[in-house]
Amino acid sequence: MAVYEREREEMVDRLVASGYLKSPRVMEAMKKVPRHLFVPEDVEASAYYDYPLPIGEGQTISAPHMVAMMCDALGLEEGQKVLEVGAGSGYHACVVAEVVKREVVAMERIERLAARARENIARAGYGNIRVVVGDGTRGYAEGAPYDRILVTAGSPDVPEPLIEQLVVGGRLLIPVGEMYVQHLLLVTKGERGVEKTALGGCMFVPLIGEHGW
Ligand code: SAM
Repeated sequence: MAVYEREREEMVDRLVASGYLKSPRVMEAMKKVPRHLFVPEDVEASAYYDYPLPIGEGQTISAPHMVAMMCDALGLEEGQKVLEVGAGSGYHACVVAEVVKREVVAMERIERLAARARENIARAGYGNIRVVVGDGTRGYAEGAPYDRILVTAGSPDVPEPLIEQLVVGGRLLIPVGEMYVQHLLLVTKGERGVEKTALGGCMFVPLIGEHGW
């Protein structure tokens, strides 16, 4: 058995049992992506417990249940073009890439984290994630439009460029609220505008940028 394979399966089983994870595709993806390769070595043994962990620069890798819930709520399917704002460790982007089976663009504003994310992603064996350094509140027009956009940092509001860079029929998931406490907002873009649905409370690090904090 590969390293931590049993721990990974048990993590997924617990997420399913507690109702956080419903999509079989996401279950398979989370069983595959080696989360322990995305956290600092001194906390590696905690990689499969359900909480966020520090990844340096004052940032965190999100808790597995949050990754699961977000992937489920996005309704990810094979072939979709996805933008992640807040690459952090690169873990969430790999889970997304496992499901959509095509290149994922992941933006990160902190250069050192972006460099580490690229290393983590390569070590985990993924070649289909493009980590871009920049202010993700402006989106990434070069790759637009996207079928799905996920933001993994908390914003005071929904950045307009992200709505613009979404296809009609696309979904955007973003924590919106105060600096350290938010609710997860699902934004669906239709022909006649956007519909917003609040999915529940969450706590993310701040989204810092032109259309964020
Ligand atoms: N998804 C990440 C993972 O799998 O490890 C965890 C993301 S962490 C909770 C949030 C990240 O968003 C941090 O790395 C932070 O530097 C980044 N961030 C904050 N504001 C940003 C912005 N405007 N553009 C891009 N990244 C940003």
